Amino acid sequence: MTLKRRDFIRTTGLAMGYSLLPYSNLFANTNQKQLGVCLVGLGNYSTSILAPALQLTKHCKLTGIVTGSPWKIPKWQRRYDIPDKNVYSYDTIDRIANNPDIDVIYIVVPTGLHATYAIEAANTGKHVWCEKPMAKTEAECKAIIEACKKNKVKLSIGYRMQHEPNTRTIIDWATTKPFGAIKTLRAEIGYNVGNPARSWRLNSKLGGGTMYDLGVYALNAARYTTGEEPITVSAKQMTTRPKIFTETDETTHFTLEFPSGAIAHGKTSVGKSMHELYVDCEKGWYTLAPFSMYGGVQGKASNGKLLNIPIKNQQAQQMDDDALAIIQNKPVMVPGEEGMKDIKIVEAIYKSAKLNKTITL
Ligand code: NAD
Repeated sequence: MTLKRRDFIRTTGLAMGYSLLPYSNLFANTNQKQLGVCLVGLGNYSTSILAPALQLTKHCKLTGIVTGSPWKIPKWQRRYDIPDKNVYSYDTIDRIANNPDIDVIYIVVPTGLHATYAIEAANTGKHVWCEKPMAKTEAECKAIIEACKKNKVKLSIGYRMQHEPNTRTIIDWATTKPFGAIKTLRAEIGYNVGNPARSWRLNSKLGGGTMYDLGVYALNAARYTTGEEPITVSAKQMTTRPKIFTETDETTHFTLEFPSGAIAHGKTSVGKSMHELYVDCEKGWYTLAPFSMYGGVQGKASNGKLLNIPIKNQQAQQMDDDALAIIQNKPVMVPGEEGMKDIKIVEAIYKSAKLNKTITL
């Protein structure tokens, strides 16, 4: 089985353009159990990123799929060696409870559906990984956390940046403060999407909206960079394409005020390209630009220090960290409570923009 899987990985890995050399000792410790992961939703992120990344992990393997699109099944089964008994539809998720090949159910559907399927997943007794943003509302986040507690399963939110080494350096600096107290920071993430496809991302009910989809990276960065929770939030939303963005935001600007006095200015847009985290402190500055791209995160500080630790694959790192937390029964790096803190603020950002006033949290 091990040999077959290694051959399979070599083939698919090369086909996907990954260099497999750094992973040559992938299965060195055959006694180490690899957790079986079942992906729920076979859209872009599962297909192009998570499934290939699972072939690079040490502690997980892709063993199951949940899909509402039957035509996708044969290709996934062939490509990833998934037996019929590990293929489910959205209506049969409860049956995963009896499948010993599956240890973790990973929710990768539109944000507005995260709560429904994450709760169903928890009720199977399997551990739950849920993509960012955690859900549409704080109440939904609470319900997911409760379901996981009730079923005694672990819950991790897919904030891949918190597993990334240069980001970890910045997170440590929130405590060690090598440049003194933070005065202000800018966190900006955007893509110039010329012709946004009609998708759930433009549908408010399904959890669409740029603040939810991209803005959470800037918001999460403001929180992990300061290590604080904001006390006030004010926001503005605008669009240059009102015929397309009829119910969701194209661009959101927000300002957060933290207890220390630090101020964060966040921007997110699908009308403009921007990818920078810049932190201005009492005795210097540091920046990551880009701070959230799959392809790499890099930056520098005012003392000349470069933030350029390489990482082989962000998602593989994230899933291995989350799998190890399960295997070793340790706290996960990004628990549900962390996802919920962002969603509470996201809701306040939308409220502030709508009412045109500062919201106290
Ligand atoms: P996508 O539109 O490409 O895929 C969504 C999948 O959900 C599709 O397979 C679709 O068939 C399925 N689905 C099930 N019920 C649906 C319904 N009622 N309406 C529409 N689709 C339905 O989206 P995606 O880009 O793969 O995003 C999925 C999740 O992954 C989102 O939560 C998103 O925020 C997250 N994501 C995270 C990252 C990251 O870097 N962590 C990157 C991209 C996406």
